[in-house]
Amino acid sequence: MAQEQVRIFDTTLRDGEQAPGFSLRPSEKLLLARQLDALGVDIIEAGFPIASLADAEAVRDISLAVRRPIIACLARCHRADLEKAVEAIKPAARGRIHTFIATSDLHLAVKLRMTREQCLETAVEAVRFARHHVADVQFSAEDATRSDMDFLCRVIEAVIKAGATTINLPDTVGYSTPDETYEFFKTISERVPHSDAVVFSAHCHDDLGLAVANTLAAIRGGARQVECTVNGIGERAGNAAIEEIVMAIRVRQDRMPFDTNIDARQIYASSEMLTRLTGQGVQVNKAIVGRNAFAHEAGIHQDGMLKDRRTYEIMRAEDVGAPWNPMVLGKHSGRHAVQKRCADLGIAVEGVELIDVYRALMAIADDRKVLTDEDVRAVAASVRAGAEPPKTAGAKTFEAPAAAVGATHESGYGHGV
Ligand code: MN
Repeated sequence: MAQEQVRIFDTTLRDGEQAPGFSLRPSEKLLLARQLDALGVDIIEAGFPIASLADAEAVRDISLAVRRPIIACLARCHRADLEKAVEAIKPAARGRIHTFIATSDLHLAVKLRMTREQCLETAVEAVRFARHHVADVQFSAEDATRSDMDFLCRVIEAVIKAGATTINLPDTVGYSTPDETYEFFKTISERVPHSDAVVFSAHCHDDLGLAVANTLAAIRGGARQVECTVNGIGERAGNAAIEEIVMAIRVRQDRMPFDTNIDARQIYASSEMLTRLTGQGVQVNKAIVGRNAFAHEAGIHQDGMLKDRRTYEIMRAEDVGAPWNPMVLGKHSGRHAVQKRCADLGIAVEGVELIDVYRALMAIADDRKVLTDEDVRAVAASVRAGAEPPKTAGAKTFEAPAAAVGATHESGYGHGV
């Protein structure tokens, strides 16, 4: 059975780029757009042309140079925005206008100072104008998840009639929960006439750390496009992370039998490029792309990993193109891992010698976070030479409980759960 496809709409260059500390020059955006093409995203949102000349230039450059994915750009429901957007994506092989207006009463009253009826008319007029220029028009109801359901359904029905082909329903402020998001998408696609003629799209923010969970719930509720960014960058706490969505679907095919066009082996390179261009790294424990995502220090884990990687890994670093160097030596490591690292460095140690090397390394590890290959070499050499093993300044003399180095705890300390 052919699997249903979920389209990946990447907004790293728009929502991501507009977050503090992430601005990019047009030439840098073009580099990233080429990488997103290699990654296999279906749609690249390249910018917001009315926002600046540089943004308009970037959208135009990317439209000219990156030909496989759809190139989208953002426009408010204003004539001037839409004209700039039309102009910027004109060279694209496949261009999309993405127009949006807020539909929540709060945004209408406070921000736009509009009535619901004015909002509806403005949305319809913008979609009609966009559709007059391009065949592919996406409409977003900003703050959709905090909008009145009856009114939101009326707006969606009206913009579908006006020619919108994708309906994006953003959780603009990251307020929704997964069960709510599922019901939201399900209700809307059931209630709105002709909803089967359009693609529904989710755009979730991570203010409560629920962006990816909400995105997956939206898919279950009927969304077949998801908006996301590399490393989860974006306004405030960011958007749903592309690498997490893609790998969740891939690893849990039993629960989410969907397919994407993503070449997962390009995930790590994409993350690295974004980090390099923006100077903003990801947290070390970030899922999929963090430095520790495939690393193991705890002895029980290392022991399991040496026997079979599946004991503590649900996917492989190489599946996402990340370097796999999982055995971090530290104070939680066990003798097996020390012996393995020595062997990897061409030093065969066993028996009493192994215990001596292990004890000396643990004494150093007490003072440091992580042991390097240099530490291992130096310690092994001094143990062999019968010399006092090197210690860091102020290192305590190692007094391990017998069990830590004894025969019964070969795997060392560190939590097994
Ligand atoms: Mn957003």
